[in-house]
Amino acid sequence: MNKYLNSRVILNPNETPKEWVNIIPNLPIPMTPLINPMDGKPASFELACKIFPKSCILQDSSIEESIPIPNELREIYVKTYRPTPLHRAYGLERKIGIKGEGIKIFYKNESLSPTGSHKPNTALAQAYYAQKEGVKELVTETGAGQWGSGLSFGCNLFNLKCTVYMVRASFLQKPGRKILMKAYNAEVYPSPSNLTESGRSYYEKDPEHPGSLGIAISEAVEHSLSDPNIKYSLGSVVNFVLLHQTIIGQELKIQFNKLHIKPDILIGCMGGGSNFGGFIIPYINDKINGVQSDLEVIGVEPRACPSVCKGQYIWDYGDSAKKAPILKMYTLGHNFIPSPIHAGGLRYHGMAPIISILHKKNIISSVMHHQTEAIAAGLAFAQAEGILPAPEACHAIKEAIDQALKAKDNNEKKVIAFNLSGHGFFDLSAYNDYLLDKLIDYELPDIEIHKALTADDMPKINETEF
Ligand SMILES: *Cc1c(COP(=O)(O)O)cnc(C)c1O
Repeated sequence: MNKYLNSRVILNPNETPKEWVNIIPNLPIPMTPLINPMDGKPASFELACKIFPKSCILQDSSIEESIPIPNELREIYVKTYRPTPLHRAYGLERKIGIKGEGIKIFYKNESLSPTGSHKPNTALAQAYYAQKEGVKELVTETGAGQWGSGLSFGCNLFNLKCTVYMVRASFLQKPGRKILMKAYNAEVYPSPSNLTESGRSYYEKDPEHPGSLGIAISEAVEHSLSDPNIKYSLGSVVNFVLLHQTIIGQELKIQFNKLHIKPDILIGCMGGGSNFGGFIIPYINDKINGVQSDLEVIGVEPRACPSVCKGQYIWDYGDSAKKAPILKMYTLGHNFIPSPIHAGGLRYHGMAPIISILHKKNIISSVMHHQTEAIAAGLAFAQAEGILPAPEACHAIKEAIDQALKAKDNNEKKVIAFNLSGHGFFDLSAYNDYLLDKLIDYELPDIEIHKALTADDMPKINETEF
């Protein structure tokens, strides 16, 4: 029998969800507001609208349980790549020796979008709303390049200009992502650049500065504030991005219902929390409401950047230059610059406020893995299933394998599902380093975390004032 034979649940285009699921009204503690970094007070609606498209700001604090996906946008999702299949990982089950144990592994395949990850789910939505509101240009930052390519794709479809500040280290190391963005007509600048005040403060000291996501965010926000026709776009962390990503979990639910199966364990990797959030949120409501209170939900982080596993749940700036809003979230401190692991999408110092609340209230749990063990799991997956996963997604695969082996040891019949957030065609150097035995593991020393979290410039927010 063909070893790649795996079964897929493929939905019809007309089964694409018609709404996004909003978790905010069901959270066990109220959602915290976005704080203006200039005065430490909740950002006014007017100020937030200067930075982001208005519809996104309205969604960010909406208390509706579901928000309709506009028809025109839903049609574009369907024309381009949705719905995505749910795969039963028969090959992987066989490879790790759990076949016949009554343990099932499934994965939702978000690698099938045109740019190879879940990012277009929100990029298309943000570009759609921006165009409706007469915005001419969206500007953003990108680390590894997945978000920059997602937004470039979305802007190109909706005839908007797209400007991307790309962390210089990635700009130099990952020319493929830069070329893809340019192919979609985007303008791409290495960050720190000399185009913005925030960039210049680093650039003038060192024109070769490798940059960081925090610095690139500062540059993009500053650029967006220079003209009312330019808005800033974010690929993760904030509530409206997680909302747009719930299309993943909604499809997952329809697919599992067709199989008459209920997952016992849901797993996703966490950078800013958007693919994990989108994957789990439609199920979290069931867990909170007691429909399925024994559901286990696990977010996976790299040991080099364990924002939830080792950070603190406090107020912090979203970026290094303290220009982006302040959020209450798990953080390693806005000054923290993580080691250069291959999973560039998991190198953010903070975590989505929604995910932070769910973790604080023990509704979800978190684990950490080293990049070497993650890439090894990714290779096993490629050999068993035929898809080369993104280094970020490898972290989820590693945990799914560990959970399956644990269930086997305990003689438990578990259904495990993870989100395959993207493919790894632009990350071949990670696999090359692994195969050449050159891949290094980084562990963040506790003393470094302590230093970053007790820095003098952490924001001091008085919650009793609002
Ligand atoms: C961006 C990215 C991530 C991390 O971002 P989240 O917001 O945590 O989802 C994970 N996987 C892939 C493939 C990505 O592109």
